[in-house]
Amino acid sequence: MKVVIASHNAHKAEEICRLFDGFSLNIAWYNYATFEVEVEPIENAQTFAENALSKARFAVEHTGLPALADDSGLEVAALGGEPGVHSHRWAGDTSDAERNQLLLKRLGTAEDRSARFVCAMALVLPAGHYALTSGEIHGLITSEPRGGHGFGYDPIFLIPSLGATFGELSPTEKNAWSHRARAAQHMAPLLKGLLSYA
Ligand code: IMP
Repeated sequence: MKVVIASHNAHKAEEICRLFDGFSLNIAWYNYATFEVEVEPIENAQTFAENALSKARFAVEHTGLPALADDSGLEVAALGGEPGVHSHRWAGDTSDAERNQLLLKRLGTAEDRSARFVCAMALVLPAGHYALTSGEIHGLITSEPRGGHGFGYDPIFLIPSLGATFGELSPTEKNAWSHRARAAQHMAPLLKGLLSYA
């Protein structure tokens, strides 16, 4: 069975395929590069779930294949849940490093460093049937970036029980903990069921 991952972020698309490695799903994964899809859907919904669904529907329209999409972000308690659903474009068109510096500056010396990564994952079939799952991981915002792995807010998100930020974990280690891995664990049986039912 063919499934397309609805993301232009090659790093994220690769991370998502790897998450399903252990589930014996017998899926051939595709990404946008195969279909030369260059446009992007507008992410303007107010929830991660709605954004994930609209990204997956967009991919089905452009490829004709079942599509899997995620929408994710970081919620920082002391910033009232920001960057939240706006994580991707929070602070405008800046680099990850600049965005992290801005977040640290906004947080300043706040005592409450708690934050969570949230992920909504959507599978949409060409006939329109869909499944949605979610996953989250709680952690703390560091006082400065640490580690060169991963992407986005990884270097400033600390998992206290590991004493390491996501940026300090290898891809395999991050996949054992991440919000996306947790959403994928819930999605794997639904993916198997929905694809065989389709
Ligand atoms: P989207 O889900 O592609 O819209 O991206 C949401 C944004 O949230 C990303 O561009 C990152 O800035 C951030 N984000 C989501 N997941 C992660 C993660 O696993 N690590 C670091 N940043 C993330």
